[in-house]
Amino acid sequence: MTAIEHPTSTRYPDVRNYIGGTFVDAERDRHLDVMNPTDGTVLSRVPLSGMQEVDRAVEAAKKAQPAWAATPIKERAQVFYRYKALLEKNIDELAALVSEENGKIRNEAAAEVLKSAELCEFACSLPQIVPGEVLEVSRGVECRVEHYPVGIVASITPFNFPNMVPNWTIPNALALGNCMILKPSEQVPLSAGRIAELLREAGLPDGVLNVVHGGQETVEAICDHPAIEAISFVGSTHVAKIVYRRGSANLKRVLALGGAKNHLIVMPDAEPDMTSNNVVASMSGCAGQRCMAASVMMAVGATDHIVDRMTNIVRGMVPGVHLGPVISKAAKERIERYISEAEAAGAKVLVDGRGYVVPGKEGGYYVGPTLIDRVTPDMRIAQEEIFGPVMVIIRAKDVEEALSVQHRSPYGNAASVFTESGGVARYVMEKASAGMVGVNVGVPVPREPFGFGGWNESKFGAGDITGRGSIEFWTKAKKMTTKWNKEAGVNWMS
Ligand code: NAD
Repeated sequence: MTAIEHPTSTRYPDVRNYIGGTFVDAERDRHLDVMNPTDGTVLSRVPLSGMQEVDRAVEAAKKAQPAWAATPIKERAQVFYRYKALLEKNIDELAALVSEENGKIRNEAAAEVLKSAELCEFACSLPQIVPGEVLEVSRGVECRVEHYPVGIVASITPFNFPNMVPNWTIPNALALGNCMILKPSEQVPLSAGRIAELLREAGLPDGVLNVVHGGQETVEAICDHPAIEAISFVGSTHVAKIVYRRGSANLKRVLALGGAKNHLIVMPDAEPDMTSNNVVASMSGCAGQRCMAASVMMAVGATDHIVDRMTNIVRGMVPGVHLGPVISKAAKERIERYISEAEAAGAKVLVDGRGYVVPGKEGGYYVGPTLIDRVTPDMRIAQEEIFGPVMVIIRAKDVEEALSVQHRSPYGNAASVFTESGGVARYVMEKASAGMVGVNVGVPVPREPFGFGGWNESKFGAGDITGRGSIEFWTKAKKMTTKWNKEAGVNWMS
């Protein structure tokens, strides 16, 4: 996809669906503007596809499926060795595209593409990992398990990682023999087209990956299409529930990852510099638009010295340099409303990011990094996902009180503790009600082969979306029992 000079502010041609190895126009002319969050200009237009386009993509996937599933896994994995190399070779261009459509700063965008490359490493190792188990279960009788592709699957992704989240699912699902319909976020549809092009260059047969753009109607068509066997979803809890319910009601397997409200418990013995730097980086990285971002700091006991350090660090951060904008005008207004409401309810705003304007980018959706102290657990800002560079500080007298606040959250993506005490660290790791926990880590993302996935209202469905946990989701296990030995006994299990 090449940037074009355009007399208006649109800089990319209209986004097109990718079906059967070709970029095609949607059947109808319903589009949405794609905005550049750094300055509020229009970047492109994305089609809002319906059932007809989903069906075209499914037909292309159906054509490709038998040959792809019959290709030995070692050969399928070869595509991802080449794709990984292409991601690395094109990292500057891919990172620039992520920056442009999502707004995150260039380093963060490049890190995202590198993570996509790392995800390919796991897919390349699948031939080493998936060989089924085999055991002589009784004299002369052998049982084995083999993994088969599910068939045609769909992956629905959010705006916050336009390159990485599609790559959470594409390499593993495809290396395991499935054909996919990818439905990227309509707010960041550009990266998906480049992903499709690079996979084609890497040798992926046409029809194995198809990209259908759109919003709610497209997702509903995916949930309703009878030939789609499995759906992975990553996005807000509200929509995760809709997709989980609708997809399951249509008898598909669904894994739906939702929103988050992540708590960092900071103990008085925590190493002050490391802790303050990690906590601030967690809440401000990607402008707080990470499902693993810290959102609540539970400051236990005498931790003012750490809060003071954090305040100094945050004051030195410059939007447009150290962090990008949030995704939309609506997101900026929503985040600023949360801050104002907390202030009105008695919280103390230590660093205020409201009304931030980056000179020369007056149309951008910037929110400065914000620290709010003396928040109480009953405030809305303490309970709901903010998804912006805002950290609320709740004071707690001890670790039990801190954990009780974490337990009240309906979410359960991540939690972390900052301490020098092994006993306290172990206790929090055991007791926190979250799927991904950390010690002295602001963003406790498990790396492959470990799987990514939370608990409670942060994930619906079994298994994880990456790593070993994804193998069960993307395959059907077949259990085979054989008996060649004539002398093998006959019993109630034969
Ligand atoms: P979103 O839920 O608004 O959108 C996600 C996807 O759902 C998009 O493709 C969108 O087109 C579609 N969609 C939106 N509304 C829909 C509806 N009513 N019916 C059907 N489909 C609909 O999420 P977002 O704003 O793009 O992303 C931010 C959210 O994603 C945050 O809540 C964040 O925590 C979450 N997230 C979670 C994880 C995780 O691993 N748990 C990872 C990344 C992001």
